[in-house]
Amino acid sequence: GMAQLLNEFDCERTLRNGTYWMPFTANRRVKEDPASRIITSAKGAYYYTPEGKPLFDTLSGLWCTPLGHGHPRIVEALKTQAETLDYCTAFQMTNPVTVRLAERIAGMAPSGLDHVFFANSGSEAVDTALKIALGYHRLRGEGGRFRMIGRERGYHGVGFGGMSVGGIVPNRKMFATGMLNGVDHLRHTYNPAHMAFSKGQPDWGVEYAEDLERLIGLHDASTIAAVIIEPVQGSTGVLVPPVRYLQRLREICTKHGILLIFDEVITGFGRMGENFASQRFDVKPDMITFAKAVTNGIVPMGGVIVSSDIYDTFMTGPKNAVEFAHGYTYSGHPLAAAVGHAVLDIMEEESLISRARSLEPILAEAIHSLADLKGIKDIRNIGLGSGPIDFCREF
Ligand code: PLP
Repeated sequence: GMAQLLNEFDCERTLRNGTYWMPFTANRRVKEDPASRIITSAKGAYYYTPEGKPLFDTLSGLWCTPLGHGHPRIVEALKTQAETLDYCTAFQMTNPVTVRLAERIAGMAPSGLDHVFFANSGSEAVDTALKIALGYHRLRGEGGRFRMIGRERGYHGVGFGGMSVGGIVPNRKMFATGMLNGVDHLRHTYNPAHMAFSKGQPDWGVEYAEDLERLIGLHDASTIAAVIIEPVQGSTGVLVPPVRYLQRLREICTKHGILLIFDEVITGFGRMGENFASQRFDVKPDMITFAKAVTNGIVPMGGVIVSSDIYDTFMTGPKNAVEFAHGYTYSGHPLAAAVGHAVLDIMEEESLISRARSLEPILAEAIHSLADLKGIKDIRNIGLGSGPIDFCREF
């Protein structure tokens, strides 16, 4: 069995060989000390090394395991679902577990965002949302709206779409294909002179939203399909939106018929002390992308929550036609859906989302107490997210 296979196997040697090419990793650094990179089990907020040494999981997996590791109810849900319906053809067929999860997620979203399309990761969710935006405009006779506006320092995964709208330079520069041409980027909102060590939303910087008017002036609104941003930028080091910045972007998008997409892969499902950042900041986008915490990272799942206007626009044409020629073999996978239900049950029963809100000042105080440490240039926080790093020189 698996245990025997692992016993006979020298993990460190194989890592040193490079047979396993690790994702988003300095692989040659790993080879210098592979033993330091191996985790063999996890429980609660801790990982364990092969020697049984606990490592505090500061990052909650990759922002994806807020309920901790090895939650018995999640394990049970996974097991039961595997025994009942392990897979279900995703195209033209479905199952009640997945359908009900769509209903629950729509119920958590802001009103008017009532339709859920499932994918399996944040990257897939983003590419799905971008395709929905293009299709929406085309169906309305505005196929000239092909351009996507992202933001400097943004992270939207690594698919060609998400990479193109993303604004983290090392993730893009090697892959400049034609894909990258149909996009432009808003300025990022980070200005340490005005907002270093701010807690929550900086009260300076709303004027950065006017950068969207500049891009509209350059490209013309009739060529722009959507603006996609993380309401709080995560991967770049937690950049919190200035007060009224998101409202202003919403106003400008609405004025020009441009869709607004919130990429809530990190901020969704409680991280901001609300179901979604959209509710925290009281700004309603046309689509929300999600992933990560929806399954506590236990089984991959992502998706897009879509407005009724967009959904209804697709539900036209011949009745036998596939309205949106898009989907993944594992869209709405029943194992992921079952875990999603367990996660939402736990969040509801233990009021974990309001707990995240009440823990926010505690995290803020703790993280800002690091301000005087050597090498710390800035600290930012909101909800249960904080970034004690300054990556800015890279940009
Ligand atoms: N979008 C955002 C905002 C993210 O933070 C991430 C991952 O960190 C992604 C998309 C990509 O998600 P995945 O790695 O699941 O493809």
